[in-house]
Amino acid sequence: RPSDNPLIVHVSDFDMLEKCVQNVSDIERKLIDKFMPGPFTLILEKKRCIPPEVTAGLDTVAVRMPNNMIANRIISEFGRPIAAPSANVSGKPSGTRLEDIKNELGNNVFALIDGGSAEIGLESTVVRVVNDVPVILRPGWVTAEEIEAVAGTVRVDEHVLHDVRCDEMVLSPGMKHRHYAPKTRCVLVDIEDFMERISVLNLFVNSNVCVLGIGKRPDELAISSYFSMGESADEISRNIFALLRKVDLLGCDLILIQSVKSEGLGLAIMNRLIRTCEYNVIKSKAEVVDSGGKVRWDF
Ligand code: AMP
Ligand code: MG
Repeated sequence: RPSDNPLIVHVSDFDMLEKCVQNVSDIERKLIDKFMPGPFTLILEKKRCIPPEVTAGLDTVAVRMPNNMIANRIISEFGRPIAAPSANVSGKPSGTRLEDIKNELGNNVFALIDGGSAEIGLESTVVRVVNDVPVILRPGWVTAEEIEAVAGTVRVDEHVLHDVRCDEMVLSPGMKHRHYAPKTRCVLVDIEDFMERISVLNLFVNSNVCVLGIGKRPDELAISSYFSMGESADEISRNIFALLRKVDLLGCDLILIQSVKSEGLGLAIMNRLIRTCEYNVIKSKAEVVDSGGKVRWDF
């Protein structure tokens, strides 16, 4: 993990949280009361006991209180906050199943604790309150709509769905880093009639393209490498990282991924998929997927 990407500090209860942070505002307090414990991370002013190695030298710290019983017990038995990343090599899709984590981290870790597959499958929602407005730095299970209901207002940082220019200041260092990307080239297809359009791929019987779509493969689609991400946003969020890992092993030239609607939990899914595709998004039917490589696909 790049040392300029700060870690989340995990606490088991509110007393422990108070020991890490200071000057908590009313809005921040409301968010803590509503969403903790849970898949919700709040960036707060840190106390001196939080070392710079954890925060990449920032004067703020990201805190989260897991509601997973095993995680919570590990922290409370240890008696101190635990700074921890997700179980994956930095830049790769997050580990959501023990099998995937074993394959990726192998002998590099001392022990693995099997708590079953991740129930949500996406990382926590990360929020920082700026001028009394909660700003979503990374969308997750806790949605913008739910945060707005508590705080009266919410803002989604523009980098949630867009790349960071190299000279730009960002509220969260993680936004600058490569994320969730398999080895295989991925392209996000953000057009209404995705299913009808990908049937064009039937023409390219020799092209080694994989398609990740929403719901079952339509009968008229001959493409054999179709994989369903799920029917609903809940299902997609649970499946997506394990599916990306699986498809990455098939050795295709290209993975085409259907976009989802960027609302509710869909915003979190799109945030991950855009990074999976390294901002390679097709928005119009006229674009060419890969002009230089093996697959040339003109709608
Ligand atoms: P992960 O990389 O999945 O462990 O998630 C941690 C995320 O929180 C990364 O995107 C970090 O950049 C972000 N983060 C952690 N600490 C801070 C902080 N003090 N200020 C802003 N973002 C932070
Ligand atoms: Mg991570």
